[in-house]
Amino acid sequence: MIPLPTALDYILRRVKRLPARTVPIERAAGGVLARDVAAPFDLPPFDNSAMDGFAVRRSDLASLPGFLKLAGEIRAGQRNGRRLGKGETFRIATGAPLPPGADAVIPVEDARETARGGITAIEIAAVPAPKQFIRPAGGVAERGEKALAAGASIGAGEIALLAALGIKQVRVYPQPRVGIISTGNELAAGGARPRAGKIFDCNRYSLAALIEKHGGIPLPFGIAADNEESLGKAFRKAAAGCDFILATGGVSVGRADLVKKTIKKNGRGVRIMRVAVRPGKPLVFGRIGETAVFGLPGNPVSAIVSFVNFVLPALKQARGVEGWRAPAVKAVLAADYKVPRDRLHFARAILHRRGENWHARLDRSQGSADLLSLTRSNAFLILPAGRSPLKKGRLLTAIPFEGLIR
Ligand code: AMP
Ligand code: MG
Repeated sequence: MIPLPTALDYILRRVKRLPARTVPIERAAGGVLARDVAAPFDLPPFDNSAMDGFAVRRSDLASLPGFLKLAGEIRAGQRNGRRLGKGETFRIATGAPLPPGADAVIPVEDARETARGGITAIEIAAVPAPKQFIRPAGGVAERGEKALAAGASIGAGEIALLAALGIKQVRVYPQPRVGIISTGNELAAGGARPRAGKIFDCNRYSLAALIEKHGGIPLPFGIAADNEESLGKAFRKAAAGCDFILATGGVSVGRADLVKKTIKKNGRGVRIMRVAVRPGKPLVFGRIGETAVFGLPGNPVSAIVSFVNFVLPALKQARGVEGWRAPAVKAVLAADYKVPRDRLHFARAILHRRGENWHARLDRSQGSADLLSLTRSNAFLILPAGRSPLKKGRLLTAIPFEGLIR
């Protein structure tokens, strides 16, 4: 058996980045930036007001209350107009350019309109702080400054920023196309109930959900039977149109485990691994053409755990995200765990918050085929290998399901 980090390292050294492509920002959501983006101009482009209010010169408000002559109005979208004279104020809208000479904005709520000697005056009760409610030019990003870094995931905020900077298209790593092949003579695809001896294929659905959740394009290639012809056909077909192939089943030691053989026959650099992790010991990695091929365990829980441990870091890396790790928290073990562990165990657990800390209770079932256990749990608790019991109160690493597999 090889340690998990060794297996992962082997894979990541063989997964290439997908070639970056240029896409309009309208279609960039879900992508990963392939290049830094610099601000082509100051953002905001000009000093402007953060409030509906009055532009003032602070020096006019040395004695309070101050009375300033209402000498004009600046609306959003207008050009930088006339200079603000001594003793004057302009009504100003949020986002309108600040007039030259002004050094603060008084919000409408803090000002009062009055008539004084036939003219309209604005009464101001408090001295504003310097630059109060002014959004300075370049205050968000200065011209030439790095606004977004290569490797950033593009969501609504990033797209808004790009649009504000007048950037119409970006270089992104594309979404990987991930083929899914379920293998096994026992698998059935349709019908209300499986016929005698058969079970429904679930890996195809769980993997598709995971791929989609993490920014890939799932492409199901159906069920392949446990014979070299059926498997070979499925693998060759998938390899023609995919960046990755995930096959499940047929990688353990059973007599029908032909997946290894088929990937070997059609591909190159195939490595069959026994990883010191539970669940998910058997793992195959290789290539068919330029397509990276994973042979994952067939048991539904194992397939999901292997996806998290091996496939997901590879998908991230293909999109320019190096050294990705699933977000983890520290959790206190809620009860003694006496079962000896021959390998690192990604155990299903229920995390709950107690005061400042997370507490973790192991689920009663840890069977690799027990899908109900997965639905009862909300995290993988990582139990180190070893004979000695894990004592209640021990601090362990937990990987929450939320955002990862749920
Ligand atoms: P195998 O490694 O092919 O022997 O598969 C291990 C176990 O996982 C067997 O009980 C299979 O029936 C089951 N299995 C394999 N593939 C799937 C699948 N796509 N959906 C549900 N169960 C599966
Ligand atoms: Mg099988």
